[in-house]
Amino acid sequence: MSRKWTAALLCLSLTLGLALGGCAPSAAKQSRSGFYFDTVISMTVYTNDEKLLDDAQAECQRYDDLLSKTKVGSDVWNINHANGERVAVSEDTRDIIEKALEYSRLSEGRFDITIEPCVALWDFTGDAMGILPDGDALAAAAAKVDWTQVDVSDGGVRIPAGMTIDLGAIAKGYITDRIADFLKDRGVKNGFLNFGGNVLTIGGKPDGTAWNIGVQDPQGTQSQGILGVVAVEGEAVVTSGIYERGFDVDGVRYHHILDPKTGWPVQNELAGVSIVAEDAFDADALSTTVFAMGLEAGTAFIEGLDGIEAVFVTRDDAVTWTSGLEGRFTLQEQ
Ligand code: ADP
Ligand code: MG
Repeated sequence: MSRKWTAALLCLSLTLGLALGGCAPSAAKQSRSGFYFDTVISMTVYTNDEKLLDDAQAECQRYDDLLSKTKVGSDVWNINHANGERVAVSEDTRDIIEKALEYSRLSEGRFDITIEPCVALWDFTGDAMGILPDGDALAAAAAKVDWTQVDVSDGGVRIPAGMTIDLGAIAKGYITDRIADFLKDRGVKNGFLNFGGNVLTIGGKPDGTAWNIGVQDPQGTQSQGILGVVAVEGEAVVTSGIYERGFDVDGVRYHHILDPKTGWPVQNELAGVSIVAEDAFDADALSTTVFAMGLEAGTAFIEGLDGIEAVFVTRDDAVTWTSGLEGRFTLQEQ
């Protein structure tokens, strides 16, 4: 065989070898589910590290212990029980609160972690579900809500006595990002996290194509509970709506996204909003914020942000999406 042919054959076998997976042994699919942050979580990653998902689960537990509102001694519990004193907290907690205040600023107070006294008067999941809170008590709770009173510094967090915070609208998003970072640091290139409906992808699928993420139908009337599908690689898809935590009384839907001015659920034309963003934190904060803004203001707000897109569903089942999702979001055929 001539030298030229030998070189050509060598080149072909190298190309084939690379196409069939290269030199590295291909990573195996591993999955894990659990119950953290008051919700079901699942992690699917491609890795040959047998300990990885155990360690990731331990991280979830650590974040749960840090950010739970109800666990005595958590950072949030300490802040809410400090009677006006400054409390030393972890860097994670400081980071989340600083970012939350930024969203309060951006949304002119529609997003507000000091909503907690109002949240505490509602029950959307337990024995008191279906019972409306006392109107005067709710008005008194709403009077305490004021994000501008939250003081974060290197020394910790201070809120006035009587005020309390709730990170329910953002903690899951923040933790999803941190767990994805943890997995990436340990070599994961492809994966899929679903933390109670907050989806975050790591890269694309191992075959090089994008993940197709189903956008939840807020009212469950569409086929398979999915409104449509969005193609994502390395991005998050997070939904907020009136369906998961809520109840009806006399034809009115009461749900868990509250108006900080009144303490009553936000009532507008929307049934749900899904946000597509690079970070799960931004997606989580924005899904709640944009829901509270309503369809028109919410659409304009998202169109003005780079790299962030949204799908909106109204209570009468109209589905719209922002311009950046053209060609990426496919509406489910009925
Ligand atoms: P989910 O918990 O289903 O992911 P969200 O991310 O929209 O939904 O968060 C809703 C939670 O946020 C509520 O259960 C409550 O704890 C908190 N919350 C309610 N209203 C507001 C608000 N206006 N600003 C900030 N947090 C809120
Ligand atoms: Mg949210």
